[in-house]
Amino acid sequence: MHQDFLPPGIVILTGAGISKESGIDTFRDKDGLWTRVDLEEVATIEAWHRDKKKVLDFYNHTRRGLRAAHIVPNAAHLALARLERDYEGEVVVVTQNIDPLHEQAGSRTVLHMHGRDGEVRCMGCGHVFASEADLSPQSKCPNCQAVGELRPNIVWFGEMPQHMDEIYAAIDRCVDLVQIGTSGEVYPAAGFVLQARRRARAHTVELNLEPTGNQPLFHEHIYGPATQTVPAYVERVLAGRWKS
Ligand code: NAD
Repeated sequence: MHQDFLPPGIVILTGAGISKESGIDTFRDKDGLWTRVDLEEVATIEAWHRDKKKVLDFYNHTRRGLRAAHIVPNAAHLALARLERDYEGEVVVVTQNIDPLHEQAGSRTVLHMHGRDGEVRCMGCGHVFASEADLSPQSKCPNCQAVGELRPNIVWFGEMPQHMDEIYAAIDRCVDLVQIGTSGEVYPAAGFVLQARRRARAHTVELNLEPTGNQPLFHEHIYGPATQTVPAYVERVLAGRWKS
């Protein structure tokens, strides 16, 4: 098919809720990680400057816990990978999650707004690389050799999200914006639905366990666990639209 005749794109915005059924707690879970840990102590740039060892120890510990849990993609991640494979137009997954479950499920176009677990970034030179090794204030950057500048490539509270230019461009050319398992309260992601409606005149769909913070902005609402609602939604899109 000639590029000009490709159907318009679909942007999928995912949050912690899509990974819940894989065994990763959401931000707002009653017994979740963030009810036990003070954000200000470990997930801000101020905390990093105050006590690098404390911040790095926290992420070393969390990463080891996640690896030990052998977390795997669930039916919702797999359905989105199938959508990208079988839909004739563009499918872009924009995720607020740091976990690699979309990629493990087979999605190829994934933009991690809040960084990625398993990646390290140098605060000195900006070099980003994959690493499973524990970090300490003595760790040395393999690119610029600076000591004490390595941190997890995770966007902390108060920092700029990543890939924003690509994300805004994808939203501007989409026909559907689908928000899955995100509270609609964390900006800028919570504002994507408005951009999709105003600038792209897109159809907007919310999939969640319950109505979210920006629920009135969606044309369509589908409530239930992501492992059930997402595969059904993907079936519907593949069966009903842009079918050749
Ligand atoms: P959130 O915790 O604020 O909200 C989670 C949303 O998911 C809620 O609206 C909840 O109703 C919904 N949900 C829970 N279980 C669900 C299920 N089985 N099916 C469908 N929906 C379900 O998460 P958020 O909106 O993504 O924002 C919190 C921030 O925390 C994000 O920036 C994210 O980066 C980070 N976070 C990431 C992970 C991860 O990488 N997996 C986990 C926790 C938090």
